Amino acid sequence: MASKIKVATASLAGCFGCHMSLLDIDERILELVELVEFDRTPLTDIKEVGECELGLIEGGVANAENVEVLRDFRRHCKTLVAMGACAVNGGIPAMRNQFGLRECLEEAYVDGNGVHNPGIPNDPEIPLLLNKVHPIHEVVKVDYFLPGCPPSADAIWTFLTELLEGRPIRFAYTQIHYD
Ligand code: SF4
Repeated sequence: MASKIKVATASLAGCFGCHMSLLDIDERILELVELVEFDRTPLTDIKEVGECELGLIEGGVANAENVEVLRDFRRHCKTLVAMGACAVNGGIPAMRNQFGLRECLEEAYVDGNGVHNPGIPNDPEIPLLLNKVHPIHEVVKVDYFLPGCPPSADAIWTFLTELLEGRPIRFAYTQIHYD
């Protein structure tokens, strides 16, 4: 039996919606696991990424830990994919880019509606926020961009099967959307 292709996934500044969309391929996941072995993903709970053929990244880059995880994926994955609007262009988390970081923190932790015990957290265990949220291609080289918020399960399925089987990736018109 041919050895399986190793795939890792991570969620940076995202909402896990893209991972949910991946799971929405429903029973086709049984076909997928015939082709691939999952390495580090939120699905396996493996914490360290190993050498992989394919890395799927959900979410943009909003803090120092995101940068570290993303660079680690780039080092270990031969092919790296920006999966979904947040990874492709920053998405919803990047809406904070029009404000200063202090302004965002004060709105969230001091002045905003419903804030109790105001105070900006400063525990050293909390990853430092970057001034802006970045799409992942501003931090590492990206091989493929899969748009959509989230990309549909069908689009993810088409992408994965064509890529894993070495065919040119062609989407039906209805599978591509940018919202
Ligand atoms: S692209 Fe949409 S679904 Fe995916 S992580 Fe971002 S907000 Fe969530």
